[in-house]
Amino acid sequence: MKAVLFEKFQEAPKLTTVADPTPEPHGVVLRVAATGVCRSDWHGWMGHDSDVELPHVPGHELAGVVEAVGRDVRHWKPGDKVTVPFICGCGSCSECHSGNQQVCLHQEQPGFTHWGSFAEYVPIHQADLNLVALPETMDFATAASLGCRFATSFRAVIDQGKVSAGQWVAVHGCGGVGLSAVMIAAAAGANVIGVDLDPAKLALAKALGAVAVLDGMNADVPAAIREITKGGAHVSLDALGHPVTMTNSILCLRPRGKHVQVGLMLGEHAAPAIPMPKIVGQEIELLGSHGMQAHRYGAMLDMVASGRLDPARLVGQQISLAEAPQALMEMDKFRSVGATVITRF
Ligand SMILES: [Zn+2]
Ligand SMILES: [Zn+2]
Repeated sequence: MKAVLFEKFQEAPKLTTVADPTPEPHGVVLRVAATGVCRSDWHGWMGHDSDVELPHVPGHELAGVVEAVGRDVRHWKPGDKVTVPFICGCGSCSECHSGNQQVCLHQEQPGFTHWGSFAEYVPIHQADLNLVALPETMDFATAASLGCRFATSFRAVIDQGKVSAGQWVAVHGCGGVGLSAVMIAAAAGANVIGVDLDPAKLALAKALGAVAVLDGMNADVPAAIREITKGGAHVSLDALGHPVTMTNSILCLRPRGKHVQVGLMLGEHAAPAIPMPKIVGQEIELLGSHGMQAHRYGAMLDMVASGRLDPARLVGQQISLAEAPQALMEMDKFRSVGATVITRF
C-alpha cells in the first residue's frame, strides 16, 4: 500500500510503498477514505511523543470502510462505513470497565503507538469496542474531522466543562479544536468568546456562534474577558496548548470557574507555571480533557443529525496523500483555517 513514512524525527516524510496490514483476531483493517492532518501528528514527527517508534506512519483522524475483519470480531463486516476515536481502549482495564476508554491504561493510538492513517489502509485494535458506525449521509472528510478535534472538544465542553445554557465560555485558540469548541458551546446555549491572533479564524468563530471575539495580541486578554462577562467566564478552554493561552484561560475565569486544558503541552511547554494563588483563592477547577470514548459518539452524532452541530463547516482544505508531508511539516505555522483533510490516496 501507499503510505507517508518518516525514518527520522524532523526529517521530511516520504510517500512510499509498504506492506499491507492484516487484522489481529480482535481487530479490523480499514481502507482509509479521509484522514485529517493535526498538530498532534506534528508533535509525533518532531519527536515529542515517546510512543512513536521509527520508522513511522502518522495519522489518527480517520474515517473509512472496513476492508478485513479478524476472526473474533462480532459487530463489524467488510463494507461498513466507520470512524474511530484516536484513543482506542483495550477493553479489559479498570478505566475501560468504567466506560472511560479515553484514559485506558493500555490504550492504542493509531499514528502513535502503531502505524496510522496517512496510508491506504490502517489496522484498528479491539474493533467491537472502538469502532463507531457513521451515518450514511455524512461525507468522509467531515467524519475524519470528528475523531480527534471535534470529539475532543465535545468531551471538553459537554462532559468535562459541563457547559450549560447562559454560561460564559472563553475559547483560547481558534484552530480545529477551538472552532469546534465554539460551535459546540454555542449549541449548548452558552455565550462564547473566541480568542486568536488570526482575524480569519476570529471571523469564522463569529460565524460559528461566538458572541464576541478578541485579538490574542490584546495587552490583557483576561481583563478584557472579565469586562465582557461582568466578572469572568464560567468555563474557559485552552484549545491551543501554550503557556500564554493556558495562563489567560485560568485568569479570565470567575470564582469557582473551570479551566479545561485541551491543547497538548509537550516538549519545552510540558511544565508551565500555573497561577496557583487564583486556583486556591477562587476555588478554580483545573481539568484535563483527552479525546472521547466511542460510546459517547452517539450523543454527538445526534446533535449533528438534528442540525445543531455542523462539523462540515470546519473542514478546510482537502489534499492528496502526496501533499501530506508538506502539510504535516507546516502544522506549527497555523496557516490553515479549519481542518486540512487528506481525501485523495
Ligand atoms: Zn488530531
Ligand atoms: Zn483499557
